[in-house]
Amino acid sequence: MADSAVREFDICVVGLGPSGRALAHRATVAGLRVAAVDPRPDRLWPPTFSCWIDELPDWLPHSVIASRIPAPVVWTTAAIRIDRPYCVLSKPLLRDALPLDDARVYAGRATRVDAHEVELADGTVIRAGVVVDSRGMPTLGDRRAASAHGIFVAAETAAPMVGAGEGLLLDWRPENGAGPDEPPSFLYAVPLGDGTVIFEETSLGLRGGMPQHELRRRTLARLAAHGIVLTGEEPSEAAHYPLDSPPPAKGVGRVVPYGSRGGMMHPCTGYSVADSFALADTAVAAVQRGEDAVAALWPWQARLTYWMRMRGLWGLGRLTTEQSIAMFDSFFSASPRGQRALLSAHDDYAALGAVLVNTVSRTWPFRWRFDLVGWRNRDRWVDFPFAPADSERRATEPQR
Ligand SMILES: Cc1cc2nc3c(=O)[nH]c(=O)nc-3n(C[C@H](O)[C@H](O)[C@H](O)COP(=O)(O)OP(=O)(O)OC[C@H]3O[C@@H](n4cnc5c(N)ncnc54)[C@H](O)[C@@H]3O)c2cc1C
Repeated sequence: MADSAVREFDICVVGLGPSGRALAHRATVAGLRVAAVDPRPDRLWPPTFSCWIDELPDWLPHSVIASRIPAPVVWTTAAIRIDRPYCVLSKPLLRDALPLDDARVYAGRATRVDAHEVELADGTVIRAGVVVDSRGMPTLGDRRAASAHGIFVAAETAAPMVGAGEGLLLDWRPENGAGPDEPPSFLYAVPLGDGTVIFEETSLGLRGGMPQHELRRRTLARLAAHGIVLTGEEPSEAAHYPLDSPPPAKGVGRVVPYGSRGGMMHPCTGYSVADSFALADTAVAAVQRGEDAVAALWPWQARLTYWMRMRGLWGLGRLTTEQSIAMFDSFFSASPRGQRALLSAHDDYAALGAVLVNTVSRTWPFRWRFDLVGWRNRDRWVDFPFAPADSERRATEPQR
């Protein structure tokens, strides 16, 4: 028989991805009575998570780092070394660092998520002072997307391109086989610390995203350009999600959206994990004080920051490969604070405004600035006719 008992909690966290699990864990550390809900609460998260090391909050031990890249490289027209350590997180160690022993964990799917009540598919009703919705992102549809196809390659095979402790954060070298009239994408390649390196061709900002088969084709072309040939048996991962989920509305007595569902998906990088770890204590403190957690998480400075990043997302989504290279060349000449204001900081709106203006004003040739700000070619790649996947192509080719 279903457990239909009514329980009282200070907070009920629905969805135990990295954001929900971190929030539920920190709420138990703060002494709150915590309920946590997920159909598979102990599942290891499917994606591979990375971030800048300085983004990790003090309470998270650095033992969760599986792979450390002291100075990742961005390739535009030349290699730019970024003196800011970056890391890949270990999924099992991360899960262990966020224990939920002091929470009541429900292995179930929420069918109703209200301000103070959550109902599970089996009829269980959980009552809590605050309900947090961290069920992840909505479906993509036609929205501006992060699309990536990652291939896990043995470290020794990957060595000609990425050695131990090295990493390619954005590789814009013209090696992916895409022509100048096709939407741009770059390569992201980092060692994962388990004897493999992920090679992930990534597209940011296109409406509806870039198809997986196109991204895979481009990844393989890049590897081939460096003499790396794969067996075809290598495991892969796919990313395809929206980048434009805005911060939620304020107001006491509402569900608190959190993590990628709560505006923490960075519109220009597609990252949310480090931000949702860093903000967990802000949300918990607000709940403890009986205040609106959304107001605490999203002061006007953070909303303005989000608004400016959305301008960046729109810019990204309309550039050509050449323009992207020029724009990133300009961006990575900014000061460390400026770079951080765009890539990481939740609310450094002044530095972000400055770096956006400087990035545009240093992009060369001059006319490309009109594309960046959207005065020209605003919808350049909308409805771009990507070539079909090989199997689809074969199916539609005339039979001989
Ligand atoms: C392949 C890939 C790679 C990525 N790499 C990075 C990266 O390196 N760095 C980074 O910061 N971000 C990365 N991201 C983006 C993003 O940060 C992740 O998607 C991250 O998992 C978002 O965390 P979340 O906790 O907000 O949501 P999710 O991880 O999506 O978690 C949502 C949880 O809610 C649960 N749930 C859903 N519906 C219900 C329901 N009805 N009832 C109860 N529970 C429910 C799900 O089971 C899941 O556990 C990546 C994304 C992908 C797809």
